[in-house]
Amino acid sequence: MTGEPIRKMTTSCGYDERSAPPPSFCGPYLPVSDDEIETFNDILSDEIDSDFTSSICCCEHCYSDFREHWPDVAFRGEEFQSQNMDADYLIENSRVIQLYSAAEISTLKHLVKCPRCLTLGVRKVWIFEHRFSDAPTIERAIEQLLVVGTRTPFLMLEHPFALEVLRNIRQRAELAPAVRLKGAVFRARSLQSVTELSQKPESILTYGVPPASKVGEGRFNHAGHAMLYLASSQETAAAELGIPGEPCAVAALNLRDPVRVLDLVEIDDLEPGFEILDAVAKSALLAAPLKVEGWVKRQYVFSRFIADCARAAGFDAIRYGSTKLVNGFNYVLLSPADDISASMSLISVETVTCPAASLRW
Ligand SMILES: [Zn+2]
Repeated sequence: MTGEPIRKMTTSCGYDERSAPPPSFCGPYLPVSDDEIETFNDILSDEIDSDFTSSICCCEHCYSDFREHWPDVAFRGEEFQSQNMDADYLIENSRVIQLYSAAEISTLKHLVKCPRCLTLGVRKVWIFEHRFSDAPTIERAIEQLLVVGTRTPFLMLEHPFALEVLRNIRQRAELAPAVRLKGAVFRARSLQSVTELSQKPESILTYGVPPASKVGEGRFNHAGHAMLYLASSQETAAAELGIPGEPCAVAALNLRDPVRVLDLVEIDDLEPGFEILDAVAKSALLAAPLKVEGWVKRQYVFSRFIADCARAAGFDAIRYGSTKLVNGFNYVLLSPADDISASMSLISVETVTCPAASLRW
């Protein structure tokens, strides 16, 4: 570096008064005031905006919490996965380094602040920008709705966010034409289950909805109300069974009639309701993997709420991302016929081994 650094930190210092070193710091450090720390973080944030058109979305302290709120971002978001780096690396490769002296940088690099959890002195950052705005407000709504959905699910519609979701789904329904699905859809059955029930893998009836008495709560269906879950590919259908290594029969099916689809995979940002539906699709309200324990399981309540909204608005199906395969997506038919052969024709059946789920970050 040549010449004098542009910035000089000379104001009186909070650390000096508190006699406390910066967090996670060892060795000598310069006294730094709170204002100087804010200014440094503002400049760093502008640099990230200019280099990545993005911002810090979480740090090592709030990474798990971010992932719990936004499971689809952590699972599917290539940007989120690839743009994580040490705070030191980020600073050394930005123009911030030209604005301060080496001694100042050696102190300030220990004072990077996470804008999400406000922890000072973070060592690792993830750079990612949601496509919708005001993530903190939506995160609070997610937390509240997961509690309401568990304790008093019938009162969910009192929550402004849930009302907004309903309003936007209704608005979308007014614009959504019925379309013929491009290509086949796939449905898998475990060979063991098919054999135990004395069913025939080559019969289309084997891939229909189970009887109401056997239908438990699912991601979109209430207990006792069967919906038909279909996948975009043979591999996704097999992975969705959640029995890696086990053999299964996968039927390729053709849906005869056009359907009105609420698309939560490719949400056009020019259509009404983009912000709220994109947030829902990426969040724990819709995209959490099923876990036997832990708070994420509660999100099935909200996805069933979405299905109710979609059905009432006139949609026949919802298209949503697979929580098993990164590149896979699924359809759920909201009111399938009891007899699958009335609405679909069987193209082929293949026996495959169920693949393992994609790695979760
Ligand atoms: Zn954080």
